Amino acid sequence: AKSEGGNQIQFYEARFQEEIHRKMEIERRLRKAIDREEFYLNYQPVFNGIDRTIKGVECLIRWQSPELGRVSPAEFIPIAEETGMIHAIGEWVMLEACRANKRWQDDGLMKIPVAVNLSTQQFNDGKIIERIENILKETGLDPKYLVVEITESMTMNKHHALMMLKNLKRLGVSIAIDDFGTGYSSLSYLSELPIDKLKVDQSFVKKMDTHGVNASIVHTIITMAENLKLEVIAEGVETEAEFGLLLRYGCNTMQGYLLGRPMEAAQIAEQLKLSKPT
Ligand code: C2E
Ligand code: CA
Ligand code: CA
Ligand code: CA
Repeated sequence: AKSEGGNQIQFYEARFQEEIHRKMEIERRLRKAIDREEFYLNYQPVFNGIDRTIKGVECLIRWQSPELGRVSPAEFIPIAEETGMIHAIGEWVMLEACRANKRWQDDGLMKIPVAVNLSTQQFNDGKIIERIENILKETGLDPKYLVVEITESMTMNKHHALMMLKNLKRLGVSIAIDDFGTGYSSLSYLSELPIDKLKVDQSFVKKMDTHGVNASIVHTIITMAENLKLEVIAEGVETEAEFGLLLRYGCNTMQGYLLGRPMEAAQIAEQLKLSKPT
């Protein structure tokens, strides 16, 4: 038993070493990834649940590293945040997403908003407002077609959040609260901030059909958000059962694998061609 315990410790040590090594390797490769053009964007459609037409997209970064293969943003974004690389990466994402949306519009396709995820470090950076303003100018995208997604935790410092959100609103962009329900903020707190949309976290949408508690939580969020005049978007809709319940609860904006996976810009253009131009 004694040697078994020793083996266990060695096992955990080895795993710990491996994790550190992987992290350092990602950090090292990440530094060159922008210059080497290893990033690209996917766009996941956001649907009108009533007629199942596309009404927006969320851009999601992808990294194809020649050395590491495909690395998930869930793995590399936290490392980019820790090392400060998120500023350059985030700016690249914002520019690329605005460019893509402007291109769809210039091609005469239906005008839709593109949502971009902002990380905490970006939200805490005073220069971000000017950067977004410059990107809008540079690309010529009408600000009303840009949505900035932030999470609840970023709004905890109310003074800072209010200042940043007011400045963003002044630019003319929309603001969405991402992953709603996973943090500790309440809707009454959020109602004091200039927010336009609320994205119900996928963990609540998941198993809505089989777990009554999940269904009640989602129903409550939808009803309260409606009263606050916020647009509600359900994330991670994977089944027709979830879809049906959401519609019944009055949520008609949805995102999830059931309706559309994240895809390349060209595929979004194809979907937009099937929609009525505006
Ligand atoms: P998120 O912003 O909550 O994005 C939604 C994630 O859920 C995406 O994962 C998407 O592919 C996935 N998803 C969408 N529909 C479904 C579904 O029906 N079922 C399931 N199981 N998953 C679904 P992805 O692309 O791997 O991104 C993970 C996270 O990485 C994002 O979560 C976001 O926090 C972060 N991220 C991605 N791109 C960016 C970016 O450009 N900037 C920043 N700061 N963060 C990003
Ligand atoms: Ca998001
Ligand atoms: Ca989310
Ligand atoms: Ca389910």
